[in-house]
Amino acid sequence: MSINDRIQLVQQAIAQAASRSGRQAEDVHVIGVTKYVSVARTVEAVKAGVIHIGENRWQNAKDKWDFIHEHTAAGQAMPIWHFIGSLQRNKVKDVVGKFQYIHSLDRLSLAEAIHEQAEKLDISVKCFIQINISGEQSKQGMSAAEVPQFLEELKALPRIIPIGLMTMAPLEAETEVTRIVFRQLRELRDQLIAQSKGECTITELSMGMSKDFTIAIEEGATFVRLGTILIGTEEDE
Ligand SMILES: *Cc1c(COP(=O)(O)O)cnc(C)c1O
Repeated sequence: MSINDRIQLVQQAIAQAASRSGRQAEDVHVIGVTKYVSVARTVEAVKAGVIHIGENRWQNAKDKWDFIHEHTAAGQAMPIWHFIGSLQRNKVKDVVGKFQYIHSLDRLSLAEAIHEQAEKLDISVKCFIQINISGEQSKQGMSAAEVPQFLEELKALPRIIPIGLMTMAPLEAETEVTRIVFRQLRELRDQLIAQSKGECTITELSMGMSKDFTIAIEEGATFVRLGTILIGTEEDE
């Protein structure tokens, strides 16, 4: 299937999920996750209109980022880059300045490293706080209970703009379990907004991957991260 056909199918599924839950499809941003595919396929996706590109490791992203930046002519739209994988402090200097969004902020030491690099570059970085809603041992992210304190600490790091929350459903979870995880992330966001007396910048929800994005949209996702279903894998090239 061509990337254009995949985009069509995904857009249809998004429109249906949005309408089932009384939402607008335009409020859901699609991140095309290119981590399984080549530079050529990534370029094809950008040409087909995928605006947001997601990668989980700088090592895998580097060739794509470099190529696209060298070959995008002046006046041509540049994709918006999202770093979605777990981030080590020693990789922060590679990522900050190249990725406009980081979805995996889950500890203060990482926030400090991002802030320091952002200050050097005189930029700010939009970040999602990654939450481990399900409490699975293997999952990255802080617990919901830690978030208010963390947001307080982030006030000392003004180069970081906490724009939303991110989570992943447990692997192999039943549909209803997945739904509850996504719902809890939305409820956490709503609580943070309600408790903040208007100063909370946390509005976005990054949740939903190829196998569960329609559930995520029904539960309020504003960014879905789609690899397999939208961009494909090695086997599709
Ligand atoms: C790989 C990855 C995705 C996309 O996964 P698919 O199931 O292929 O859509 C989304 N989010 C994160 C954090 C990932 O690492």
